[in-house]
Amino acid sequence: MLITRTISKTRAVIAQARAQGERIGFVPTMGYLHEGHLQLIDIAKQHSDFVVVSIFVNPTQFGPHEDFASYPRDFERDRKLCEARGADLIFAPEVSEMYPERSLITFHIEKLADRLCGARRPGHFNGVVLVVSKLFNIIQPDVAVFGQKDAQQLIIIKRLVQDLNFPVKIISAPTVRESDGLAMSSRNVYLNPEQRAQSTVLYRALQRAKALIESGERDAQRIISEMEKLIATASEARIDYIEIVSVRDLQPIARLDGQVLIALAVYFGKARLIDNIVLEVAGDQVREIPALP
Ligand code: AMP
Repeated sequence: MLITRTISKTRAVIAQARAQGERIGFVPTMGYLHEGHLQLIDIAKQHSDFVVVSIFVNPTQFGPHEDFASYPRDFERDRKLCEARGADLIFAPEVSEMYPERSLITFHIEKLADRLCGARRPGHFNGVVLVVSKLFNIIQPDVAVFGQKDAQQLIIIKRLVQDLNFPVKIISAPTVRESDGLAMSSRNVYLNPEQRAQSTVLYRALQRAKALIESGERDAQRIISEMEKLIATASEARIDYIEIVSVRDLQPIARLDGQVLIALAVYFGKARLIDNIVLEVAGDQVREIPALP
């Protein structure tokens, strides 16, 4: 496995792989890898011959009071995990390599960033689409894999690729969970033992929503109220949002119909955890969609 720190070296290594007829797969990450990330590598390997993992804590997607400085980092551990999982290249640039100057060109995202994390983290998705666009231009992958755990990000990236004609196929991967249901996240290390024990309430709230919908409930506000009640039983939890939106445009819906995203963000101490499920509701039929096509 190779490691590159510069854009020019990365381009040279990938050009060589491509010259040998290899298809390039790409898994962008912020590092501090866990099994969720590693399953993205597995999926990338199924769709390509040469898998590039980027490890870059991207400053432009963090707000001024967010955890950019304290975000967990451990390159040596990440290197071993990527190597064991069969990645071919880690691209791990310094901030100065990616942003020698502040970017004067930025994005404006309509609709898709209005709600959910986009509403609570102003500018976050502009930073995400900026860095992902730069990475796509540096790596020029044939396929790129993103996790459904960050459903709003996944939907925005798919639209980025469509609107700007990036020649890359986006593949989504189901959320990987701990055995008690907590979605794996690099930020889970922020949790103390009490918060970690209580954090299972997020997945339980999503499962409660699903059960209500399966038993016929279609009123979004009633479902959200039930989820709020359940999460309120966790003394350390502070709800940032619970929303039910349509997958198509990420706008809120009053009554459930079609593909719906049930998403939440909840603070436990300084850890802001997100999770979601996607359901397809058609008449009285309800089906979970683990990875958006
Ligand atoms: P991050 O390092 O948090 O920026 O995440 C990098 C990629 O890994 C994104 O596409 C995430 O959606 C994905 N990811 C993070 N956590 C999980 C998880 N628990 N299951 C599946 N994918 C994940």
